[in-house]
Amino acid sequence: MHTQNQAAPGSLECVRRFINTWSIPNQTRVEVDDLPLLARDADKWRKELLLHPRAESDTLERLLELRSDLRKSCEGVDDGNHLLNAWLALAALSVQVKPGEGGAPELCVTPADTSYISNILASVANAISSGTWLRLKTCDDCRWAFYDKTRNGSKRWCGMTKGGVEGRACGTIAKVSAFRARAAAKKSPMVDGG
Ligand SMILES: [Zn+2]
Repeated sequence: MHTQNQAAPGSLECVRRFINTWSIPNQTRVEVDDLPLLARDADKWRKELLLHPRAESDTLERLLELRSDLRKSCEGVDDGNHLLNAWLALAALSVQVKPGEGGAPELCVTPADTSYISNILASVANAISSGTWLRLKTCDDCRWAFYDKTRNGSKRWCGMTKGGVEGRACGTIAKVSAFRARAAAKKSPMVDGG
């Protein structure tokens, strides 16, 4: 299962969960989309996506589109800013300046309506403003969205562990190749290559 230490701070965690409603579980390596089911079931929606219920304006079509664009931004596909700007231009958001740490002015974005989409976009805007958005990444291997808590922000794999007979840990192949390359370069007699 996915470990707690991938969780993003504050409301960015809602965004991470939303992006992960599409996933490729390591056990099966087959794409799974939970969003259509969640959109039909208010209880499941609340449990999986936290806090904000779905409004009438949150059509499945728009939710799928938003999820796809947020994922592209996290994966660095295309021009992520362009995609986000298109959403922010249409979103019902209220922007205010408030005293932050040490009294320095800080931008605070809040949703101006009760839609799920506005809530998500407000969280994204606040994450960009505070610098945490860059740390919401997708695994190079399975594309699971995780929050990078490493000091230098260098994490590339979600850290999913082997989940079954067919399962494997993300990044294992790359890590093993890198280890073997380093070992070969050293030509240490202690390394047997196995
Ligand atoms: Zn992964």
